[in-house]
Amino acid sequence: PSSGLARDVRADFPILATKLDGKPPVYLDNAATTQIPRQVLDAVHDYYSNDNSNVGRGVHTLGMRATDRFMRSRERVRAFLNAAEASEIVFTKSATESVNLVAQGFGTHAVAAGDEVLISGLEHHSNLLPWRQLCLRTGAVLQVADVDEYGEPSLDAFRAKITERTRLIAVAHVSNVQGTVNPVREIAAEAHSHGIFVVVDGAQAVAHRSVDVRDLDADFYCFSAHKMYGPHGTGVLYGKAEHFERMEPLLLGGGMTPIATYADGPVGARPPLLFEAGSPNIAGMVGTAAAMDYLDGLGRDAVGGHDAALAARAAEGLRALDGVTVYGAQAPLGGIVSFNVDGVHPHDVGSHLNTFGIATRTGVHCAVPFLDSLGIVGSVRASFGVYNTMEEAELLIDSVTTAEKGFWSMNHPDERFLKG
Ligand code: PMP
Repeated sequence: PSSGLARDVRADFPILATKLDGKPPVYLDNAATTQIPRQVLDAVHDYYSNDNSNVGRGVHTLGMRATDRFMRSRERVRAFLNAAEASEIVFTKSATESVNLVAQGFGTHAVAAGDEVLISGLEHHSNLLPWRQLCLRTGAVLQVADVDEYGEPSLDAFRAKITERTRLIAVAHVSNVQGTVNPVREIAAEAHSHGIFVVVDGAQAVAHRSVDVRDLDADFYCFSAHKMYGPHGTGVLYGKAEHFERMEPLLLGGGMTPIATYADGPVGARPPLLFEAGSPNIAGMVGTAAAMDYLDGLGRDAVGGHDAALAARAAEGLRALDGVTVYGAQAPLGGIVSFNVDGVHPHDVGSHLNTFGIATRTGVHCAVPFLDSLGIVGSVRASFGVYNTMEEAELLIDSVTTAEKGFWSMNHPDERFLKG
């Protein structure tokens, strides 16, 4: 049944009809970047073809049309997250920029010397380094909620590290390494009972599940459009209005305020424009809104269920192979499977898979401390999206089986010429 969705949507993605060395792409690197459907390409093309101008500046027709699309895109994101106000949505260039904006613009006010910032042990560098930097600048201390033997942080792991100095918790909604879904709603409830702010890195979540920031009660929520069938160069930061009132911008300049003097700082700038100085990536926002329409048209939970079913099959098939280690405890709900073939470098496995047209990510996944805690130098990551099929999951398993044999042959010269 899960391939049914893929059959319906594959024709929407032009890149899937191309050939790589004569083979159709088997694109299992969706956690790095998803492919873009025609509907999103068309929206961007339409914007540039019919409405292109700058926003919030001109009184001419194209300027007003561009401004209108820009504002409608923001409203679309508000609805996508079920935020209360469109002014709680700030456009950035990436999830990374969103986290940095919170760390620098808000964190420096919320955290002082001796305070603690708590993250989990599975964070992406983009939800680690900005907090380390904040601690360095303020004299705060970075604390890490431990992961268990399967690499999963629990609510109790956070509880164990909360002290009366904890001011802010930053945590991934879904792990980019192994698809673990963290209990962010429960973490937020616990945090708020201690007056602690919660920043959720939703980069790996938004393409796989409905996200309601009010239900989660996240203080801030960050993601990128390019991991949810939208364009590169566009990110989102949601923040509660009361927090945006206290947050300072990273950039200053045109677009944020109509008023400026030599003597004072910016006057009259209000969220969200306060945080969006400079000409924005309007086409990126239009494309982001179109990607949200696309995902919601299919149903985010249906898409997430599809991706999770494929990842679960891949994990099961790979676990059944001798000499293959699959990471993570549960069925990987985030649509991601991470594994290694014993004695074979992940890059070699990835290159082997590439000969079958299979794209995976290999290496450290921008999460070196987490991989250190798993005791590995890297892994192969297969991540599934809406257009992937059960046949592709099976092909992955079969191709890893031959990788095992192939590398075994190389390691045992007598067997080198065996076919298998
Ligand atoms: N957090 C997580 C969990 C991610 O997977 C990624 C992207 N790999 C990021 C943050 C950063 O996203 P971006 O590179 O789009 O800023």
